[in-house]
Amino acid sequence: MLEQEVKEIIEILAVNFNIEVEVKFNSRRKRGGCIKNIIKLPYFKNRHKKSLLPYEDLILHEFSHALGWVRFGEETRHHNGFYYLLKEVVKSWYGNLENYKWSVDYASIYGLYQKEIGVQC
Ligand SMILES: [Zn+2]
Repeated sequence: MLEQEVKEIIEILAVNFNIEVEVKFNSRRKRGGCIKNIIKLPYFKNRHKKSLLPYEDLILHEFSHALGWVRFGEETRHHNGFYYLLKEVVKSWYGNLENYKWSVDYASIYGLYQKEIGVQC
C-alpha cells in the first residue's frame, strides 16, 4: 500500500465521520499510534508479520482513537468505549464486522468481540 493510498483511506474516513485528522509516518516503528487526532503509522513495508493487524485494519484502529479524541476530548484506551468506536468505524468501512481481523488486535478488544458474537472463552 502506497503512502498516498493510506492518506486517501484516512481522508475518506475523515469525511465520513466529519472530523479532521492528521497522519504521520514513522520509519522505525512497526506499530501504529495516535495522539489526539494525529495518527501515527509505520511504513507499509515494515508491517509484514501475520501476527500483526493487517495494514488496512491498523488504519481503522488508529482512526478510531482519533475519533474518540475528537468526540470525547480524551485519549481512548482499549476498553468498551474504544471497542464501540472501532465497531462503528469497521462497519462504515467494510460494511460488516467480520472483515476486521479481531483475533490479532489487543486481547481486550478481541475479548469484547468474542463476547458479542457469543464465543465462549
Ligand atoms: Zn490502540
